[in-house]
Amino acid sequence: MKDIVSLQDGPNDISEELSSFFGNHEALHKGWLRELHSLAEPSFEEYETSKFVISVLERYCPSLDVTTPFPLSPTAVIAYIEPSETLELSKPILLRADMDALRMKGAPTDPPRKNDDYHHGCGHDGHTTCLLAVAHCLHELRHLCKRKVVLFFQPAEESGMPLKGGSGARVALDHGLLETIHPDVSAVYALHCWPPLRVGQVGIGDGPMMGTGTTFSIMIEGTGGHAATPGPDRSEPLLAACSLVCNGQSIVARGLSPFTSSTLAFTAVENVESRSLNVCPRKVSVQGIIRALDAEVKKTVFAQLCQIGKSIAEAYGCQVVISSREGYPATINSRDGASSAKEAARRAGLIVFDVGEGPSMVKPSLCAEDFSMLLIKRPGAYVWLGNGGSAGLHTSSLRFNENAVAKGAKFFAELALGRNCTEQH
Ligand SMILES: [Zn+2]
Repeated sequence: MKDIVSLQDGPNDISEELSSFFGNHEALHKGWLRELHSLAEPSFEEYETSKFVISVLERYCPSLDVTTPFPLSPTAVIAYIEPSETLELSKPILLRADMDALRMKGAPTDPPRKNDDYHHGCGHDGHTTCLLAVAHCLHELRHLCKRKVVLFFQPAEESGMPLKGGSGARVALDHGLLETIHPDVSAVYALHCWPPLRVGQVGIGDGPMMGTGTTFSIMIEGTGGHAATPGPDRSEPLLAACSLVCNGQSIVARGLSPFTSSTLAFTAVENVESRSLNVCPRKVSVQGIIRALDAEVKKTVFAQLCQIGKSIAEAYGCQVVISSREGYPATINSRDGASSAKEAARRAGLIVFDVGEGPSMVKPSLCAEDFSMLLIKRPGAYVWLGNGGSAGLHTSSLRFNENAVAKGAKFFAELALGRNCTEQH
């Protein structure tokens, strides 16, 4: 217990030291953000980004160990600090930032992007900057650090593939990140910029934060034929597809309890064999996504979709083949992880909103996130960092708010210093 008391002797002094550090280096850290924004690279191709991260770590954070331990994911970087003096209750933690950009054009920037086909439309450049700023802080203020801290600069969050080799988190786990490389990590944390919240605000829930997804593909096959020769011997999959898109809307609206969170979206109806306007297609593909906070709800939606799809195809005299591909699991914060994150956020001077269903004004999102796979292996929390009413995620105008860098970095630093070491992971 003595250790806890010694940590809490001067919290205001430490907060002031952190504020002063991030204030003094604000221009430097904002410069890193601009450079990372200009480097925007897609999933698993973050070569220049990774080089930049390593160069910053080597120049500004020489007391941290830096490794690139994953042969199948060479752009991933791990830095860690292991103080000689640690406190008994301050267990090692891992902080993660994703580094990849989207394959989309972005609004013009200064400096211009190195490759205009990619854009940091999800703010991962800002997450990486926050983690670099924490690394800088852990080096400069290492006398304050009393726990081992692992910093994971992760590629390929945007790939959407949870299977082997599919996303940065999946590859890291398959390479033993938490089993053999840093098995002592007791909790994991990450943040994501969140446009609806103001700079200085964070959203943290002690349950689901983001949804789990499935993509589906429904191939409907009939006879098709000349568009001008309908008749009793014809079966037209396009009519079945249109009926399915309309009737499928009833699944979430009427087939589930109104107190569940899920959505089903048909995003493509495609004639897969012909582009001629006088041909009724023989094969039509219908595709879309299902998202839910609860995996069981997602299964129910897909089961009802299969049932309706088969019934409608049969009613139109068509055959149907339905397939699906699993996306990321739901991102679910542990209670202790959320509690530690809230404590760290308050120490960092941030305004904390509880994310939850029911009366909470900040609701969970049905977007999906591969940090969920780390949260399945360890307790911890995924936190939304206010981006100041910016453009939405995955849009050409989204920029990580420069003024949020110090906020996110200070939050990470408070977690890293482990002053709330009463946490029980
Ligand atoms: Zn993102």
